Amino acid sequence: MEEEIPQLFGTSGIRGKLGDKINLELALKVGLAVGTFAGKGKIVVGHDPRTSSPMISMVVKAGILQCGKDVLDLGMVPTPVVGYATKCLGAQAGVMITASHNPSPYNGIKLWNPNGMAYRQDQERAIERIVHCESFNRVSWDLLGKSQDISNFVSHYVSDILALVKIKPGIKVVVDCGSGAASNLSPLILRQAGCEVVTLNSQPDGFFPGRNPEPSQKNLGELMRVVKAIGADLGIAHDGDADRMVAVDDEGRMADFDKLLALVSAQRGGMVVTTVDASAAIDRCLMEVDGKVKRTKVGDVHVAERISEVGANFGGEPSGTWIHPEFCMCPDGILSGLRVIELVQEKGPLAKLLDDLPTYPTRRVTVNCQDDDKKSIMQEMEKKLPYLFSDIKDVNPIDGVRLTLSDDSWVLVRPSGTESFIRITLEGKDEKRAHQIHQDSKKLLEDVIKKFEESE
Ligand code: MG
Repeated sequence: MEEEIPQLFGTSGIRGKLGDKINLELALKVGLAVGTFAGKGKIVVGHDPRTSSPMISMVVKAGILQCGKDVLDLGMVPTPVVGYATKCLGAQAGVMITASHNPSPYNGIKLWNPNGMAYRQDQERAIERIVHCESFNRVSWDLLGKSQDISNFVSHYVSDILALVKIKPGIKVVVDCGSGAASNLSPLILRQAGCEVVTLNSQPDGFFPGRNPEPSQKNLGELMRVVKAIGADLGIAHDGDADRMVAVDDEGRMADFDKLLALVSAQRGGMVVTTVDASAAIDRCLMEVDGKVKRTKVGDVHVAERISEVGANFGGEPSGTWIHPEFCMCPDGILSGLRVIELVQEKGPLAKLLDDLPTYPTRRVTVNCQDDDKKSIMQEMEKKLPYLFSDIKDVNPIDGVRLTLSDDSWVLVRPSGTESFIRITLEGKDEKRAHQIHQDSKKLLEDVIKKFEESE
């Protein structure tokens, strides 16, 4: 029997607390594994402003150099700069040291392909195998790699991103970088784009003194207040590594994630990719511009893969992780912010645009179940769920099972990848419909789970 290899990568790279899952020994092994796995050529490395990031970066770089690969060192940059540099400089891989939206004690490592797309699961498994077996291709002293400082690449990123967007002067924007990796870059690009910019938490600081790096409603109170108080057109906030962006409207309210994604998708037009758990708001908005929605598994790498498969114009998850394939396959929170500004300039105030979209009642419920039973329970749910409804328009089994119903309502039953529960997510045309879908699907799921528990 084949030996079981411990899984290092989660949904977005290797992530954990420093001294616990993330430590220098692991960082060295990952550096050696990337140096072994990547093709012949250079490897781009960047890191966020966490206190442990420069240290982890040094060790990862040492591993790469020991495999005879050259390092292109960006220093402290947002994740999208690593993706873009990997693509533009013809590098064989990109490595970003970051724990994204997690608090200060955490860190992580995320890997990028030569086209700027995150490593796929099969590539992550290959890295895990090399780490586990310690099958590193170390080279002799005369073949070691060289490291080169390429922090000046940032100016190319700035000019290329500005060449892509069409923004007229006159927009007043408050940007809250959460003291994360975009603290210098996002305000600079917004100013160069002609915006009047007010900054919050825009000094890089690994202690994240102003707010938690997760750009959630509870962490963005100050941004919402300032946008309203100074009469700004909008607010923009990033997570710790700025692959994500969330917006605050001109009324000082946090923009609904799904509605904002829907508005920008319609603005991009054509074919758009999103995940199975995204609202039908995106389908409704795209229908008006003769666009098409393709749904894929939850996770930004799945969105990126699907964008390349179908040749989509745009793609994103409701979390604010958006991919702009005309620029790069790496999610880019800075470009996402600029796209929202373009939307406001073309279509009018953000609050009105959001309010004009209908709000469908949503529900999210979790039902506990044994991890070992998840697969069989989901097989049973795939069979039985469609019998609850007489008006099914579409069945999508790509990630759990998602049913689209005739009146635009939908329901998704999907197992958690990390915890012992199955989640039901749904949207109903009205409260009554949402309630009925909720009750019926929850009862079915509970009955199926009970049947498995009794048979054990
Ligand atoms: Mg992030």
